[in-house]
Amino acid sequence: MPELPEVETIRLVLEPHLVGRRFDRVEINDPRLVRPFEPMAVAAELEGERVSAVDRRGKYLIVRFESGRALLIHLRMTGSLRHAQGGLGADDPHRRAVVKLDDGSDVAYRDVRRFGTWLLLEPGELDPYLETRVGGEPLERTFTARRLGERLEGRRAPIKAALLDQRTVAGLGNIYVDEALWRASIHPLRPAATLAPDEVTRLTRSIKEALKAGIARQGATLRDYSTPDGGRGRMQDRFRVYGRAGRPCTRCGTPIDKIRAGGRGTWYCPFCQRLDVGGYAASRSSSRPSRSSRHSSV
Ligand SMILES: [Zn+2]
Repeated sequence: MPELPEVETIRLVLEPHLVGRRFDRVEINDPRLVRPFEPMAVAAELEGERVSAVDRRGKYLIVRFESGRALLIHLRMTGSLRHAQGGLGADDPHRRAVVKLDDGSDVAYRDVRRFGTWLLLEPGELDPYLETRVGGEPLERTFTARRLGERLEGRRAPIKAALLDQRTVAGLGNIYVDEALWRASIHPLRPAATLAPDEVTRLTRSIKEALKAGIARQGATLRDYSTPDGGRGRMQDRFRVYGRAGRPCTRCGTPIDKIRAGGRGTWYCPFCQRLDVGGYAASRSSSRPSRSSRHSSV
């Protein structure tokens, strides 16, 4: 499922193709994409709209129009967008919508699982819509340890679950939560409210670093995700814990373990990420495991 780095990559690639262009013809082939509205009606409303900006908020892609309206796209599990200069090629049964732009190029929306959504919002509707659904943007300067700390206060849920909640931090999903917790040396099952101030500071920095690493490699391609120009992400080759059960931690050499946390498959290092808070402090002062298989950090 695309998370912040994947959606941001899509935004970066689409932006120069879309800004200033008019939606000439719009075809929506799947009622699920725009329900409860009628596909034909939504398509007709979109035709003639000229794009003023392509933004992102959490995992939402926002196509803003000069009219003040906005098209809010959520890719959910398997949604993807493709920009094609000279025709879309062979028919694709998973193609759910096509927008023909006024320069003759096409933007196609593909979705195998069909959980993705397109929502056309009238001027003034976007901010209130997002306000109740997404918390702070983790890559903005306003996302500080103090702010994250406030969001975690009093929460007994595991930190993994708290971070998957889009109202805590916008844009994190299963991959980047695991990566950020590993970077911060925090166990995924630690109750959120028990994090010490220095841990929250480390976690804040780790979230930013994990996301920036993902954006720098154009996201992670595991199954369906590709960039709008047909490229693949490269982040999957750089995961520190995600999907690496049994392989050595790049920091200490201990085999990565897989558990369930927040209802999701979760990868972590049993040595670097201790569960007991007291033991956590002890682990920082004790020596690292004496194993010959220790791998250097790459
Ligand atoms: Zn480790």
